Amino acid sequence: MEVIFRPQNYEICLNMAAIVLAVITLIIHSSEEDYYGKQRRIFGILIFMVIFVNVVGGIHNVWIYSDWAKSLLSYGFNCFMAVLEKAGVYVIAVVSMCYLMAIFRIELDRVWKVSVIAIPALCSVISVFSSLFNRNVFYFDARGDMHLSNVFSGTVNISSALYLMFAAYLIYKYSKSISSEKAIVLTAFFLMMAAGIPLKLIFHSYAPFEFGTALAVLLCVYTFQNPSEFIERLSGTGTKNALNFTVYTNLIQKKVFTVFGISIDRLSEAIGSESLEASSNLLTQIATYLRRIYPDAALFYPDDGVFIMVLEDIRPDDELIEGLAEQIRRRFKDPWKLREDDVRFTESPFAVGFPDEIGNFEKIVEVKDEMKKMLLRQNREVLRISDLNLKYAEHDKKIDNIVRKAVDNGLLEVYYQPIYSPLTGRFDTCEALVRLRDHQFGFISPAIFIPIAEKNGTVLGIDRFVLSSVCEMLAATEVLDLGIKYVEVNLSVVDCIQSNLADSVLDTLKKFRIGTDKINFEITETWEKEITSVVDDNVQKLTDAGVAFSMDDFGSGYSNVSRMATVPVKLFKLDKSIVQAAFESEVSYMVMINMIKIIKSLGKEIVAEGVETGEQAKQLIRLGCDHIQGFFYARPMPEAQFIEFLKEHNFS
Ligand code: C2E
Ligand code: CA
Ligand code: CA
Repeated sequence: MEVIFRPQNYEICLNMAAIVLAVITLIIHSSEEDYYGKQRRIFGILIFMVIFVNVVGGIHNVWIYSDWAKSLLSYGFNCFMAVLEKAGVYVIAVVSMCYLMAIFRIELDRVWKVSVIAIPALCSVISVFSSLFNRNVFYFDARGDMHLSNVFSGTVNISSALYLMFAAYLIYKYSKSISSEKAIVLTAFFLMMAAGIPLKLIFHSYAPFEFGTALAVLLCVYTFQNPSEFIERLSGTGTKNALNFTVYTNLIQKKVFTVFGISIDRLSEAIGSESLEASSNLLTQIATYLRRIYPDAALFYPDDGVFIMVLEDIRPDDELIEGLAEQIRRRFKDPWKLREDDVRFTESPFAVGFPDEIGNFEKIVEVKDEMKKMLLRQNREVLRISDLNLKYAEHDKKIDNIVRKAVDNGLLEVYYQPIYSPLTGRFDTCEALVRLRDHQFGFISPAIFIPIAEKNGTVLGIDRFVLSSVCEMLAATEVLDLGIKYVEVNLSVVDCIQSNLADSVLDTLKKFRIGTDKINFEITETWEKEITSVVDDNVQKLTDAGVAFSMDDFGSGYSNVSRMATVPVKLFKLDKSIVQAAFESEVSYMVMINMIKIIKSLGKEIVAEGVETGEQAKQLIRLGCDHIQGFFYARPMPEAQFIEFLKEHNFS
């Protein structure tokens, strides 16, 4: 008894201290909610094993040093405790390896991984059990102490060294994905494991090692098992740390996955002034919704106003992503509850593909800022990396290559965006918009590739392709009967300075037997005098032949008001930046009203572009715009869908 209350032996002290530490760890561990699944279960086993080993090891040590214990427990029981202790130490080694693998989410999917875990475990089992039948591995002396007897125990040590090497390799490989204090904790953990072998040889006791494991689990419960590190407290989803960790470990393991983000405009402002409870309630509503539509994804709330889903084995141009974006868009048309009030938010989805689009961590930071900027002004389809105005030449070079071969490789398709006419209440025109879908990059926005195509000259081929496709559609389908009066087709400045533009266009129209009144070319203003005069010549030639022109993006740049009266165009397209700004500030609204007045006074028609809400449409119609184009009515769509759209909307 006296050895327990006043232990003179350091081994007993260590075992007792270890039990206290491990029990504290167990209490902390069980007070946390269940966030980690497998990792948490393995950690639970680890704590249990630490307590177990220290208890049986403690009993064994007490038995050796205490007559009282000897009178209570038999010699055989002591030996049994010692065997259990030894077996337990091996189990701790195996479980620690499994824990390390769970932390880094490594599956046992390769033979070598299984071998690294299984071989040492097998050696240990054989060594412990064979000792029951002979004295090959260890034996007990008269005092009841255990001794290793031969080389076989050496092989056990060697196989344990295998573990340690594997562990060291993992910690080294993944060290970038975890914070430095975590790397230190892991290193300390496995150094203690490694020290187990020499400690055993020096002290002839497992106690220092057993105490070390207790210390290690206590460190882990504050780092790897600490939910506040990984769980965002308001929304109940993953934190920024958790997201970084997930992305990083997936990258190291070369998994294919997509980071699908939903940036919610003004969400952080909305909850900024609310109580914690109200904010948490709102975030949880959104998180619950997102979890429901795709339960397989890991969900994070890493930044104010941005939810992130990580979808494994999905590429960003997968239809699933568009489907999710569509579903989310519909849901966000309805209000959310903030306390008793209904609040509405605008959301912008974006998708980044790993490792195709981003293969390393450094690039993420670079892309993130661009994404943020772009999200503020985007079209609200799913924003992709290829939409970004990334400065790196490498990216432009890839696009350059794709664009050069786009026509030949059949990567282009023409979409049509219906344009509404308030006068007739129908969609009587449309704009042809080119789409490029590359096998590797997925969808690339024309806002990105057209400028590149203008630089390398391929825009000529692209626009010729678009014009032929439009003519073919007009000739081969019933769109004219469905109420379409003409199609708006974009012309680049590069087209307009070709001396043969007019002839080439007229040839194409003739080939498909399309009347010149069925095409309306959209051109933009140019600065340079010489270019302007060539453009004017071409415009004049085509106008004489009966082709009409629109001034695109009017008001976006340096609209030259004095030139407006003389440009030979039939209509002006108010740029979407003007339209959208008008509904955000009074001054912009006045600017827009006056632009409309001037255009009307010149006797030209007006198209309002980028109309996204019913309120905007109503106001623009009231102000006298002749054509309304925008997502509120319809998005650009493939030909077949466009025809369906006309059937549905123009005759009902
Ligand atoms: P753009 O000529 O100003 O075309 C209108 C753009 O506004 C299209 O973008 C269209 O999808 C988008 N849009 C339509 N309604 C809305 C709305 O309600 N809200 C917002 N935010 N956006 C709306 P897209 O298709 O990405 O085209 C971008 C630009 O690429 C075009 O701007 C045009 O300059 C150029 N482009 C597109 N197709 C062609 C083409 O065949 N040839 C040439 N040369 N350029 C083209
Ligand atoms: Ca246009
Ligand atoms: Ca435009």
